[in-house]
Amino acid sequence: MADKKEYLFKVLVVGDLGVGKTSIIKRYVHQIFSQHYRATIGVDFALKVIHWNDDTLIRLQLWDIAGQERFGNMTRVYYREAVGAFVVFDVTRASTFEAVNKWKNDLDSKVTLPNGQNIPAVLLGNKCDQMKEGLTKNKSQMDQYCKEKGFVAWYETSAKANINVEEAAKFLVGQMLAND
Ligand code: GDP
Ligand code: MG
Repeated sequence: MADKKEYLFKVLVVGDLGVGKTSIIKRYVHQIFSQHYRATIGVDFALKVIHWNDDTLIRLQLWDIAGQERFGNMTRVYYREAVGAFVVFDVTRASTFEAVNKWKNDLDSKVTLPNGQNIPAVLLGNKCDQMKEGLTKNKSQMDQYCKEKGFVAWYETSAKANINVEEAAKFLVGQMLAND
């Protein structure tokens, strides 16, 4: 029998203040949602262990920027050795979508894979439980946007209603495995 393969993937979760980064992480890692996460200052980590298949175990280290987002960007230390990212916006606040470009540029300028490529980044439009129609009516525009900005995929998510969080993470893990 082949040895079990183990991976440790550092994943960044970035985006403007209040878009739901912490909530998405808590939902994904602890299956909980609360209205009251305090904006702690600094960097928070969460670890999710994934039994991907019989031969593959993945440790996903999720880096939450926890209060630093108000300063607009992060130091290189935060980005170092990351192999994937989520860029999150709030579907109910246009300004947070406008900031996506800035976050993506910040990522691409501060971290690359060992082979020099950009790290795979998935775009999340969070709080979709708050929207009647959601982004899906703009599906082709979103596809086009992702292509232009270099996102590997986009999802409408809700940390609150538990929509697409698992799916988005699964997609990103697939990308990171393919890059390894
Ligand atoms: P962060 O600053 O990006 O980490 O955002 P938080 O996770 O602290 O969330 C900011 C606020 O948005 C909190 O009041 C959350 O309860 C709320 N929130 C987060 N995700 C969702 C969601 O999917 N739906 C709704 N309706 N509210 C959310
Ligand atoms: Mg937070």
